[in-house]
Amino acid sequence: MPVNLYNSLTRKVGTLTPRTEGTVHMFVCGPTVFDFIHVGNARTFTIFDVIAKWLRYRGHEVTYLQNITDIDDKIIRRAAEQGREPLEYAREFEQHYRDDMQSLGNTAVSQYPRATDHIEQVKAQVKTLIAKGHAYLIDGDGWYYDLATFPDYGKLSGRTGLQADDAVSRIDDSEKKRNTGDFALWKLSKPGEPSWDDPELGAGRPGWHIEDTAITEHYFGPQYDLHGGAMDLKFPHHEAEIAQQEAASGLVPFVRYWMHAGFLQIDQKRMGKSMGNMLSVREALAKWSPETIRFFLLSGHYRAPLDFSESALDAAHAAIQRITELLTKIQTLPPSEKDDSALVQIIAETRHAVEDAMDNDFNTAAAFGAVFALVSAANKAVTEQRIGTESGAALRAFFAFLSEQFGIIATGGASLPETVQSLVNERQLAREQKDFATADQLRDQLAQLGYVVDDTSYGPLVKKKVQS
Ligand SMILES: [Zn+2]
Repeated sequence: MPVNLYNSLTRKVGTLTPRTEGTVHMFVCGPTVFDFIHVGNARTFTIFDVIAKWLRYRGHEVTYLQNITDIDDKIIRRAAEQGREPLEYAREFEQHYRDDMQSLGNTAVSQYPRATDHIEQVKAQVKTLIAKGHAYLIDGDGWYYDLATFPDYGKLSGRTGLQADDAVSRIDDSEKKRNTGDFALWKLSKPGEPSWDDPELGAGRPGWHIEDTAITEHYFGPQYDLHGGAMDLKFPHHEAEIAQQEAASGLVPFVRYWMHAGFLQIDQKRMGKSMGNMLSVREALAKWSPETIRFFLLSGHYRAPLDFSESALDAAHAAIQRITELLTKIQTLPPSEKDDSALVQIIAETRHAVEDAMDNDFNTAAAFGAVFALVSAANKAVTEQRIGTESGAALRAFFAFLSEQFGIIATGGASLPETVQSLVNERQLAREQKDFATADQLRDQLAQLGYVVDDTSYGPLVKKKVQS
């Protein structure tokens, strides 16, 4: 089945056509390992995890690389503050990152190449750019890319960076640059900093953008299929990658499909370290299950901003709870005599709806909508004892598919006592039939048993009442 996706480069939705049929070379900008990552970062990585898994589901052989930036100013600064050696410090936070990804169920990455393991490839690419007249030396500072030599600069973001003055290009802030937007390819070493020797370039370390193209050229060649990252990397980072690789190889386009994930926001502001509003993945995992966090992160369209709030996470928790309760019942109740062939049909249609949503620019929000329509139908069938052998097996297969593709099925089992759960189900059915008097009555009964019910967009969230 063809997969359609929005390409940031062409600004159009089109069918994914890899350079080699059936094989997708995919790269996503990985973390700079100087601290724990936050939930905003996790949104990007979870989105691309699901995208890679979906492409595999659709029969592509996907090689998915994510680089680990283990040398950079922030790492050097943090390590110095703690009196530690930068590369050893980076290794520790690389491991924390890998652990966080594992905990969140982000398992699609084929390989995590580190910047410092590819210094030779970086040097070679810088030398090519020098030989082709794209780079110049600022004495005592480093080798810089001369943006005036690459007229295509800005084609991805629609911005021209030649004289762009933005906070990010001020990282490379030498006053001797030829153009304001010029960026460092190779930074000459300062005393005490990690550096790699080179007779032609001088002892130094890679600039911010060069490791990505050095790594992808090494594994994929000068052109490949799909490059992803967070929205804020489009400019200048991804523009810089295009400038480096297309100038070095003379081949266009460097990447066929560019994909950018929207921000996670709190009160309309992007979650970020510099914003002072971040919640680390570890802090989040202490409060919510990985399935709940994944469900939340995937509940909006990947290109749109997503608003983080306690109530959004509560709704996600309710969604996961609802699926878990249903699944537990299907797995534990003996099959009914009656079997619901209409339900089997609904399950097949739901699977098609999920597939259509995902094939159309990875619309996880629409996919989840279809899933919850099925959950309602299945709960009704459970109550009416219409889940027989065939419909039970079809439901189990469907949830196994959801688990595989999205990682949103909890394995812990149901958490509520059976009497409580059946009252919750009855109440939900009453609500769906707009019988609010009965629903209120059942809410009172639940309260007497010590349970409170909050209605979220995905269904009821049931919690044990806190004794006051
Ligand atoms: Zn990158």
